[in-house]
Amino acid sequence: MFAIALFAAANAKAQHKCGVTAEAGKQIMEQMLENRNEMRDFVFTRGAITYVPIRFFLVAKSDGTGRTSERAGFQALCLLNQNYLDQDIQFYIKEFKYINSTSIYSNPTSFSGSNAIKNQMIYNALNIFFVKEMSEEGVLGYYQPPAGPQGNDWIVALENYAGQDLVITHEVGHFFSLNHTFYGWESSGGWSEAVHGNPVGNMSPDNVPNERVNMSNCTVAGDGICDTAADYMFPSNNCSYTQNAKDPNGQLLTPDIHNFMNYVYSCTSYNFSNGQKSAISNSLFSNSRNYVRPNYSPNLSPVTGSPTIISPQQSETIATYNAVPLEWTALPGADKYLIELTTAGQETARVIANSNSIVLTNLLPNKSYLWKVMGFNESSTCGGFSGQRIFKTGGLLSDTFTVPDVAKWSIAPNPVKAGASFFVNMEATEAVKASISIHSMTGQLVQEFPQTDFNAGENSIELSTNDLTAGIYFVTLRTKNDFQTKRISVLH
Ligand SMILES: [Zn+2]
Repeated sequence: MFAIALFAAANAKAQHKCGVTAEAGKQIMEQMLENRNEMRDFVFTRGAITYVPIRFFLVAKSDGTGRTSERAGFQALCLLNQNYLDQDIQFYIKEFKYINSTSIYSNPTSFSGSNAIKNQMIYNALNIFFVKEMSEEGVLGYYQPPAGPQGNDWIVALENYAGQDLVITHEVGHFFSLNHTFYGWESSGGWSEAVHGNPVGNMSPDNVPNERVNMSNCTVAGDGICDTAADYMFPSNNCSYTQNAKDPNGQLLTPDIHNFMNYVYSCTSYNFSNGQKSAISNSLFSNSRNYVRPNYSPNLSPVTGSPTIISPQQSETIATYNAVPLEWTALPGADKYLIELTTAGQETARVIANSNSIVLTNLLPNKSYLWKVMGFNESSTCGGFSGQRIFKTGGLLSDTFTVPDVAKWSIAPNPVKAGASFFVNMEATEAVKASISIHSMTGQLVQEFPQTDFNAGENSIELSTNDLTAGIYFVTLRTKNDFQTKRISVLH
C-alpha cells in the first residue's frame, strides 16, 4: 500500500518542462541553420570576451502587488556568468524594469500576455521577464522566437527557478539558437516503448528525422548538432536514464543526461557540447544579434561576501518612521546595494541604494522591520546577504523629533537657491561629534560631511548646494546617541 501511494504521489506531481513548443523549435532550427550559413567565413577573435547586456523585467500584477524580485535577476546573472564564461560571454545587468501587467504576470503566453510583452520589448539588451505563474502547468520558462528586432526574441521564466541550470541557462541556450537534444519529441511527453515502438521508426512524433546513434544523419536529425547524443526525450527528476530505447538501426541509446538542453533534472553539473557552443557563437555574432553586442565594457570588479549592518542597533527604535537611516559596511567592488525589508502584514519591500547608507522615508509607524542588505554591481551579483536585524519605527514625524545632545538646530536659509550655500545651525548641550548627510527624496545619499567637533553652545556650519539640483532633500544630523532629519528645499 505504501509503495502504491508513493507512486501515485510521484505521478501526480506535474512534470517540469520548458515551454518551447515543436513549432517554436522549428523556427529555432531554421535560425541555427541560417546562422551556420551566414557565419561560415566569419573569423572569430579568440579570447576576446563579449559583454551581453540583460534587461530583467520584474513583473507585478496590474495593481502593483506580487512583483518578482531583483534577486531573481541576481541569481540568473550569477548562473549565466558561471555557465557561459568558458565561451567568452560575460552577461551584465543593463537595467531592471518594473512593469505592472496581470496578463504577463499570470498568463504570459496568452494573446494579451504576449502582446503586452511585445509592447515592452526594447531591442538593446537580452530581455528576460520574471513572472510568478505560467499559462501551462509544469512550464518553468520559455524562449519566444523568431530571433532579432523584427521577431520576438524574449525569455520568460518563473522567478522561483531563476537560479536553475535547466531554466535560465537552458532558455538562453534556446535564445542562442539551440534546440532540445531530443528535438522532434516535444509534443510526445517522452518516449515510451508502448506508444513509440522499440526500435523507433525513422521519424519523430513531431516529424523530425530520428537521430541515429552512429551519427549517420546527425546534421539533419534531432537537434541538428552532431556531438549531442541521439535522444528521444527521457525526462527525469533524478539525473538518470534507465530505459532501453533503440534507434531505427536497433542500436541502444546513451543520451547525454548532463546536457543543458535536456530535461534531466537534479544533476550536480551540466554542460554544452562543442557543437552547441559553436552554434551559440554563430548566433551571438550573427546579424540578428547585433543588438546584444553594444560594445560596452561593464564594471567587472568581483563582489564577494556580504556587508555587515552598522545601524540601527538590534531592536533599536527609530522614533521617526518617515526618516529611518540604515547603514552597513561598504563591500569592495560593490557600487549598489539591495535592501530587503519585511514587516508583518506587508509584502517584502526592496530598495536599491547607491552607497552604503540610505534614509528610508516611506515606512509605516510603530512597526517592527526585519532587514538585510547585499552588495552588487552590474556584472557581479553572486554575493550574499548580511545577517538580519530588527528595528522598530516610532510614531513621530522627523520634524518633531529631538535628540539629547542637541538642544535645537535649524537650516537657513530654507529654501535655498541652487549654487548658494546654506548653514546648519546647532545648539549643543555639551561638546559633541556630529556628522551631516543629505539624502534625496528617494533616499539616495547625495552629500556627506564627515564627523566634526561641535562645541557646547551655538555652532554654525556652512554647506554648499553645488551638486544639488532643485528639489526637496533630507538633511540628517547624526551624533553618537541619535540623529535628526529636516527637510530643505533647493530652488532654481
Ligand atoms: Zn527548452
